[in-house]
Amino acid sequence: MINFHDQDGLIWYDGALQPWRDVKLHVLSHGLHYASCVFEGERVYDGRVFKVTDHSQRLIDSAKWLGFKIPYSLAEIEKATREAVAAGGHKDAYVRPVAWRGSEQMGVSAQQTKIHLAIAAWEWPSYFSPEARLKGIRLAWADWRRPPGSAAPVHAKAAGLYMICTLSKHAAETKGFDDALMLDWRGQLAETTGANVFLVMKGALHTPTPDCFLDGITRRAVIALAKARGIAVVERAIGPDELAKADEVFVTGTAAEVTPVGEIDGRRFTVGPIARQLMDDFTALTRAPAPVTTAA
Ligand code: PMP
Repeated sequence: MINFHDQDGLIWYDGALQPWRDVKLHVLSHGLHYASCVFEGERVYDGRVFKVTDHSQRLIDSAKWLGFKIPYSLAEIEKATREAVAAGGHKDAYVRPVAWRGSEQMGVSAQQTKIHLAIAAWEWPSYFSPEARLKGIRLAWADWRRPPGSAAPVHAKAAGLYMICTLSKHAAETKGFDDALMLDWRGQLAETTGANVFLVMKGALHTPTPDCFLDGITRRAVIALAKARGIAVVERAIGPDELAKADEVFVTGTAAEVTPVGEIDGRRFTVGPIARQLMDDFTALTRAPAPVTTAA
């Protein structure tokens, strides 16, 4: 098991690269106590961060949802991300930018706290095991539901929203499953604890409208890949009973990439041609060589 505080290397922290083991926050940080914390998950393929601008913009937007402003511009965040990746010499890695309120105030009100930003990168090849990805992962139903937009800042990638994800994932793992599938507050299909979900029905993709959960950057990329292949994509409210009519199910996310689902609480699915096609297309997209720019 990796001990994340005890690594060689450098972390970009509040404006400069610093030794990995020295980057610490105080125990009385507001982000820790009151979840005033937002983060990103990004992937490095062949040394390049996939969709770094989309992720960096989402980090800024997530902070805005939580009422704070990250004290760096989009361009500065992108540059800092590249520096953190380059410092580790990473070719295939995961990147974790995180922004939080500091320790200047301890209480619900935190208007005067300093906003911190850290960006760490590390080698992390696959979220689900290669065997699970080939056969399809096994999902259990979560006991927790995604809240409505009137109850939480649901479009932010905010630490507080992951409380029910960790609880759901632990419960699923305890029962021997890989992950949990969550319904939303209305009882409609939402997402897993860290990925969006797609159903294949009669050759078309159906995926829940992301009105109370993250509209994943991978989700959007996979929708574009499907459309480029002439596959119809329908974003709509999907009831859990509709899984009975699905020919294939798969999930998408930065960590999960495109991962087929083999079972949802006893209901089996085969890894089918559309999931396979989109897995290949996603690999081609993420590994695509950078466009060659020639001097005019
Ligand atoms: N939903 C949740 C809860 C997630 O944590 C993630 C991973 N960031 C996703 C969906 C997928 O988002 P993305 O494709 O942008 O990684």
